[in-house]
Amino acid sequence: MKLDYSYQEISSLFIKSSIKSDEIITSITYDSRTISVGNGILFFALKGSFRDGHDFIEEAYSKGVRHFVVQDPSKLEPLSNAKGIIVKDSFVALQTLAAHHRSRFSYPIVAIIGSHGKTTVKEWLGELLSTSKSVVKSPKSYNSRLGVALSLLELHSNAEIGIIEASITEPGDMEVIHHMIQPTHGILTSISTNKSKQFVSQVEYIKELSSLFANTTYSIHPDSISLENGIPINIEQFPLIKAIPFTDSIHQQNAVLAANMAIELGVDHETVSQQLGNLEALASRLEVFEGINDSIILNDSYNLDLESLAHALDYQLANSQQKNRIIVVGLSKKDSEREDQIQTIIDSYQPITTYFHYYGSDFKESFENASILFKGERSVRLEQIARSFKRMQHQTFLEVNLRNIRKNIHLYKSALQKGTQLLCMVKASSYGSNAKKMGVFLEQIGINYLGVAYPNEGVELREAGVKIPILVMNCELDQFSQCVAHNLEPAIFSLRHLDAFIRELIVLDKMSYPIHIKIETGMNRLGFHEEDVSALIQQLQSQPEVLVKSVYSHLAESDIENSNYTKRQIALFEKITQQLEAVLPLPFLRHILNSEGIVNYPNAQFDMARLGIGMYGISSQNTWKSKLEPAISWYSVVSQVNRLSAGETIGYGRSYTCEKDMEIATIPVGYADGFSRALGNGIGGVYINNNYCPTVGNVCMDMIMIDVTNLNIKESDQVEIIGPNQQVEVLAKAMNTIPYEVMTRFSSRIHRVFIEQ
Ligand SMILES: *Cc1c(COP(=O)(O)O)cnc(C)c1O
Repeated sequence: MKLDYSYQEISSLFIKSSIKSDEIITSITYDSRTISVGNGILFFALKGSFRDGHDFIEEAYSKGVRHFVVQDPSKLEPLSNAKGIIVKDSFVALQTLAAHHRSRFSYPIVAIIGSHGKTTVKEWLGELLSTSKSVVKSPKSYNSRLGVALSLLELHSNAEIGIIEASITEPGDMEVIHHMIQPTHGILTSISTNKSKQFVSQVEYIKELSSLFANTTYSIHPDSISLENGIPINIEQFPLIKAIPFTDSIHQQNAVLAANMAIELGVDHETVSQQLGNLEALASRLEVFEGINDSIILNDSYNLDLESLAHALDYQLANSQQKNRIIVVGLSKKDSEREDQIQTIIDSYQPITTYFHYYGSDFKESFENASILFKGERSVRLEQIARSFKRMQHQTFLEVNLRNIRKNIHLYKSALQKGTQLLCMVKASSYGSNAKKMGVFLEQIGINYLGVAYPNEGVELREAGVKIPILVMNCELDQFSQCVAHNLEPAIFSLRHLDAFIRELIVLDKMSYPIHIKIETGMNRLGFHEEDVSALIQQLQSQPEVLVKSVYSHLAESDIENSNYTKRQIALFEKITQQLEAVLPLPFLRHILNSEGIVNYPNAQFDMARLGIGMYGISSQNTWKSKLEPAISWYSVVSQVNRLSAGETIGYGRSYTCEKDMEIATIPVGYADGFSRALGNGIGGVYINNNYCPTVGNVCMDMIMIDVTNLNIKESDQVEIIGPNQQVEVLAKAMNTIPYEVMTRFSSRIHRVFIEQ
């Protein structure tokens, strides 16, 4: 971002009597973690659903920021020389600035909307234009209101075209977005049927989407969508269709839309036709994986435009924890001018080490304990170098989509009343995903509490640097000191348990140590029964060593709506917490809902809810499930394809005999990985190229064999075990169990890949 505003000019956009100042603002941020040098930055204190940006003013100040846009000036008062513009809504102010900034440029601005394909069309259009025009485009899939505002602030006077991606999640969004973007051109990529979650009907959704095209000079959409405004494009009859290197209809459609717009914007047919041949399916996401020598690898090697460079560096800065930051920049050839430009951007992220790598040369560096960002022009094939730093594990991997997890958490948060806190359960390696990673990630989102089953799980989180409170559900007597040493808060479930913990605290000379009281209301597992409550109260009142932070219980059938049993549990919980409230000196949090409870019992939110499996997009409630995004996938590859003749047998115990000539693929995943032996002999299966392939024979410890007859399957083809065709719930059903068990059985030898952006 390269702005050039005086602080006075910006202030005049938001308040009547502008602030006299000729200090220059060169960029804005709302995330204090992305600041390395605060000079020239205007910090917007935004109030999010989890975090309040005002809480980060001090951190931004300590990094040198002196200019702020705030709703509440009190945090600024103690900071000398800090200047604040006080507004009613900082987010609205940011959008106002974005709209103002956009209005200064008279070159074409293309808005891209739709349910799928926005980022692809944006990147491709950028490529088609790049030979003849200077283009600014949204970094990554920055398409929310906030993303659109930030993208618009990237516009600059050396550009000739802007491409901005936009999405809507609720009615009314488009009006705001339209006001900001004021597009001259538009592309609607596609419309899916289940994306209109917050809209009353599909018609309303489409109407809202297409309202972005009002007042544009040229807007297009595939002719399969009927719209009032815009020009319908017939994909098959597009004159340059032959130049498109894809045969599937989705890629073809995206390419045609991009090509049509490029031509409209003045690129000649011949150039477009040539460039089309170079398009590649897009891995526009930032891929993060574990590297050798304790490093983390951030592979973002699809393009090297300057906006996305800054975006990737922001991401690295905010997520590299204690590791040394390294960036490897891939260029097709030496180009000093471009390198200087790139280095200038990188320099604002010091300390960071830069390597320029040119296509075709060897890359011989080695790194330890580093966060290595690979960022390069696509033609440089930097991803191959990035992969060479990957810690080798076997080719079966579990993909954890943090972006979808974030969306799901926000969806649950939106179902909670304002002020209701959120605890996220990360027990059992966070449902098989990876507790450390999840703990750090959830802390960053700004949830209030983490929950684990055992103290060692809590210790792991503390060692990963997690600072927020952690509730430990099962703390055995000899683990109390471990809890205290790591500032973990045990749940106490009986008088004997409480008594033992108090003794430990006396030995350790601790006062007011936070604990959580577990109440038994009907699960009949752990907890204080109603009749124990008066003894509990006596104990708590006379022992200042402990401080009750929360009181909680757990529902036995929260997945069933309107259950009388659940209602009785809730009523009993309410009664007992009232008794405790009446006598305990300090207020405490009350909580009883897990993921399904949040959906089915909105009136029992009390002060906090405990979210677990719902984060991963799993719910037995169908309407709710349709709003969630699946976040766990499990992939492997074909190791070998064997052609067997009728009469041959397969695997241990020879439980399968070929009835005809067959093609059988061997996949390196077995019951030791969590693919249950119960799925053998055709009970379960996997997907290859979207074809279902059932198991044949018994599941082995490390391998399965599947029937791929006539499917034209080749060795090293990708295999989906969990994914779009077979969600966790489906595999669980085939295994005759529940998603929780499927997930917690994922073996630690399957490596985890996290999708972050
Ligand atoms: C595991 C657990 C949760 C979370 O349950 P989900 O069904 O995964 O949401 C909540 N509370 C307690 C006590 C738990 O043990």
